[in-house]
Amino acid sequence: MVLANITEIFSSLQGEGPHTGEATTFVRFAGCSLGCRWCDTETKLGTGSHFRVETPPRSREFVNYTNQISADELNKQLAFFTDPTISVTGGEPLEQAPFLKEWLPTIYGKQKILLETSGVLAGELESISRHIDIISMDIKLPSSTGREPCWQKHSAFIANALKSGKEFYIKIVVTEDTSNKDIQEAIKLISSANKFIPVVLQPVSETKTFCHGISKSQVESFARLCNSWLPNVSVMPQAHKEAGLL
Ligand code: SF4
Repeated sequence: MVLANITEIFSSLQGEGPHTGEATTFVRFAGCSLGCRWCDTETKLGTGSHFRVETPPRSREFVNYTNQISADELNKQLAFFTDPTISVTGGEPLEQAPFLKEWLPTIYGKQKILLETSGVLAGELESISRHIDIISMDIKLPSSTGREPCWQKHSAFIANALKSGKEFYIKIVVTEDTSNKDIQEAIKLISSANKFIPVVLQPVSETKTFCHGISKSQVESFARLCNSWLPNVSVMPQAHKEAGLL
């Protein structure tokens, strides 16, 4: 039996991407090795001793439990959540792909499953894509994240996401440090795979550790650049943060 490290389970409205506003249960997996500069993920994989569950759902009251959790225990917790969609998010859930392989087949077909991922673990995606409905992938621009480029990993991931035949879209977080060069590289990556993939430009939100916004004119300039090459580009800020939701 494979166990997972998670951070929290709660019900809210989807706050990002084309499904913004849809009632969703979030299962947030702990840990991510990318380390984007705005990220406030608090626990590295395997180090979070506790997770919290909103009890009852939509109450904003939480009960703490001890990590790790089995697929059966997770499903017992989820039995109280009735939203039409489950967001498998993080952290980076694909870093716990062995658990997802065991767990997802037990819930697939009951609720819609949306995977939110940084889009660098192509093999792990392939191992579970049969049991998800929607793939929400980030393209991590090095000038935004302050980390190493992930172009090749993103390219392999996009290929596997397209091969899966599942609903698929890409989010790109832009900050005041985002460069035109990186936006152009992302455009090249997307258009060489399939220029019709929906792309959401997401102005960075302030977090506990990051408080540099991006100007509207910068966002507009990036959007216009993307629009010159890609037909399905939109700009959407994180709605849950704007609306003060969980
Ligand atoms: S990919 Fe997501 S979870 Fe990982 S460090 Fe970046 S923002 Fe945080």
